[in-house]
Amino acid sequence: MLHGECYCGEVTFTVDETSRDAALCHCITCQHIGSACSFNLVSQFDKITVTSDVKPKSYNDTKTKSGNPIVRYFCGNCGSTVFSVPVGGGAFVKVGALKEAKEFKLAMTIFEEDGIPALVTNSKK
Ligand SMILES: [Zn+2]
Ligand SMILES: [Zn+2]
Repeated sequence: MLHGECYCGEVTFTVDETSRDAALCHCITCQHIGSACSFNLVSQFDKITVTSDVKPKSYNDTKTKSGNPIVRYFCGNCGSTVFSVPVGGGAFVKVGALKEAKEFKLAMTIFEEDGIPALVTNSKK
């Protein structure tokens, strides 16, 4: 079980996963929302349980490169992104929001072609 929380701690959640493989995403959206790129565990929405009384706010992102909408969940108090849920299935959990973040391995990088060159070169896998 993984344990997550937003930066201010108002939103807490668990993820029923044992994997420590994560994907580094260089897409335009992650550059904008994640500040430069984003490091995500690929999971399923039904494995995520919000454990705080305060529920995350959500933003329905229809500007994705693939054209498939993604619901992006974030803390309404501090603004931290906590996880994102593509309409077609699956979920991306922000590794940086997890207490176990330092255990994660870089399993893959995606959307390198859209990335900030200085970062893509240094993180290529
Ligand atoms: Zn917060
Ligand atoms: Zn991305």
